[in-house]
Amino acid sequence: MSEILVLVEQVEGEVKKVTLELLTLARSLGTPAAVWAGPGITAEAKARLAEYGAEKIYVAAGDDIVDHVVAPKAELLAQLVAVKSPAAVLVAATAEGKEVAGRLAVKTDSGVITDAVGLGEGFVADQSIFGGGINVHARVRRGTPIIAVRPNSTAPEAAAGAGAEEEVSVTLSDAAKAARVVERVKQEKGARPELTEAAIVVSGGRGVGSAENFSVIEGLADALGAAVGASRAATDAGWYPHQFQVGQTGKTVSPQLYIAAGISGAIQHRAGMQTAKTIVAINKDPEAPIFELADYGVVGDLHQVVPQLTEEIKKRK
Ligand SMILES: Cc1cc2nc3c(=O)[nH]c(=O)nc-3n(C[C@H](O)[C@H](O)[C@H](O)COP(=O)(O)OP(=O)(O)OC[C@H]3O[C@@H](n4cnc5c(N)ncnc54)[C@H](O)[C@@H]3O)c2cc1C
Repeated sequence: MSEILVLVEQVEGEVKKVTLELLTLARSLGTPAAVWAGPGITAEAKARLAEYGAEKIYVAAGDDIVDHVVAPKAELLAQLVAVKSPAAVLVAATAEGKEVAGRLAVKTDSGVITDAVGLGEGFVADQSIFGGGINVHARVRRGTPIIAVRPNSTAPEAAAGAGAEEEVSVTLSDAAKAARVVERVKQEKGARPELTEAAIVVSGGRGVGSAENFSVIEGLADALGAAVGASRAATDAGWYPHQFQVGQTGKTVSPQLYIAAGISGAIQHRAGMQTAKTIVAINKDPEAPIFELADYGVVGDLHQVVPQLTEEIKKRK
């Protein structure tokens, strides 16, 4: 079976969950080959990639790869595509992954599909558009299919691969080095999972009522081991930081479970969460549009419902 290249997303040597998802998807369609871009690969990271099916691990360990923002990663992949002729290239549909995908498509004269939520036989990608109202099946018809898949689109499943390491030396063009990273500032990381990677997201909207009241949302999130999200109404009001906004102009999430509390379900909010596997809405208005999308709905005051739910979950632990 042909190789499918998977660009590894990692932070300080720790492989992100989305990469394990991509390896799982790649395994169903070909032979997964992980591509590690930059220095710092550890024995642990290699073991993790092999555990999830990487038959090969291409390692381009030069500092240059990470010192010049995104362009070098696209050049690295383009050079691998030229030499290895893979059946497809999978990247995470993160901001960086999508930029890499676009640049790679230009370099290899190939078609690109972004924001896929599924991938099947013949590299037919599923995309969910217009507030989840329409499912699109798309296939690349030119060059090497380059597909950016959203985090949480598939459940990662371990199945050991050989994990054979192969060093790759990449020659970067001057254009790829045009922008340089001058500083990296480590963000304080909370105990909660990262919003776009979380398997469960609990979001609050205008119905939460104030910044202080967001502790109710956080309480439920912590009981579930979930990330906290917010509607734009809540972030614009200054009740929760903008980095947690879910929607068209915020983050796109695709968790196994999305709980929307005090959120009406405007199309711009849906755009960021409609591909969640299970959606639970808590809203005091039975006519709220979010109920059209929800798998389960509770009509009630979130200030009563959410604390009760939190207590019940804590009791079961
Ligand atoms: C270009 C553009 C981009 C946008 N991008 C985004 C985006 O990225 N993300 C986003 O979220 N929005 C976005 N919006 C805004 C979007 O249109 C909505 O205004 C916003 O999503 C509404 O947020 P909300 O549901 O929290 O508030 P509302 O629409 O005001 O809904 C509040 C809901 O809470 C319920 N409620 C009130 N009190 C309670 C209570 N005590 N218990 C239970 N339920 C209660 C109400 O019944 C209501 O349904 C964008 C808009 C535009 C024009």
